Amino acid sequence: MTVSESEAGATPAFSRRGFLAALPGLAATLNGAPQASILRVAGRAANIECICKRAWGAGPVQGTLVSHEVRRLTVHHSGKALRDNRRAPSRFRAHQRYHQSLGWPDIAYHFLIDRHGHTYKGRPSWARGDTSTDYDPSGHLLILCEGNFGNQRVSQSQERTLVRVLAWASGNFDVDPGTIRGHRDFASTACPGADLYRLIDGGHLEHRVRKRLRRGVTSKKELCGRAGRRRVAAIERGDA
Ligand SMILES: [Zn+2]
Repeated sequence: MTVSESEAGATPAFSRRGFLAALPGLAATLNGAPQASILRVAGRAANIECICKRAWGAGPVQGTLVSHEVRRLTVHHSGKALRDNRRAPSRFRAHQRYHQSLGWPDIAYHFLIDRHGHTYKGRPSWARGDTSTDYDPSGHLLILCEGNFGNQRVSQSQERTLVRVLAWASGNFDVDPGTIRGHRDFASTACPGADLYRLIDGGHLEHRVRKRLRRGVTSKKELCGRAGRRRVAAIERGDA
C-alpha cells in the first residue's frame, strides 16, 4: 500500500498529524523501493564474478608483459582431466608456476573457468598471452576451461560461464562473436579437446553469445580481498 492510498483520503493533505502518521509507510517505501532496484542492478552486475589473482593465490608477475590489442576470442582447455573441482585453484597455481618456469612472465591465459563455472582472472587482458605452440597469440584473448575435453565433457556450469565471459569480452573489447575459435584453429594441437571444440566448430557458442548480447550488457564484478578469499576457500572445501 502506498502513502497516498493509506493516508491522503483519511486526513487533510499536509496536516502535521497526517504527515506523522504517514511516516512509517513513507520510510518503508523509501527503504524498500531503492533497495529492490539496487538488488536488481546488483543481480545484473553479478553476471560474472571474477576471482582476483591474489585471492586464488597467484604469484606476482615475473619479467615484462607485452601489450596488445584484443581482436579475437580463443578458447583453450588445460589438457588434464579435473574430476574434483576442489582442486581447481591449486591447479591454476600450478599452471602459473609451470608457465613462469618456461620463462613467461605470468600464466599464459587471461581468464580461467573451473568445472563449476567459477571465473578466475589470469594475465591482464592488455598483455599478450604466451604459447608453446606455433602461432602468434597477439590479439587473442585467451580463455581457459579447466579439464581435458578429449576425454571428459564440458560441464553445464562451465559452458554457461564460458558464454558469459565470451559475451562480456565481445562487448568490452568490441570484437565480433564470429571470432570465437579454438586453439586448434591456429596451431597444431588437440586443444581445446573434442567436446569443447564441438561447441565452437558447430557455431553453438557463437549463437549463444549473440543471443546473450541481444539481451543486453554482460557485466563483470571483481571478487578481491576477503570476498575473493572466501570464495576460493568455499571452492576448496567443496561448498561452491
Ligand atoms: Zn590451448
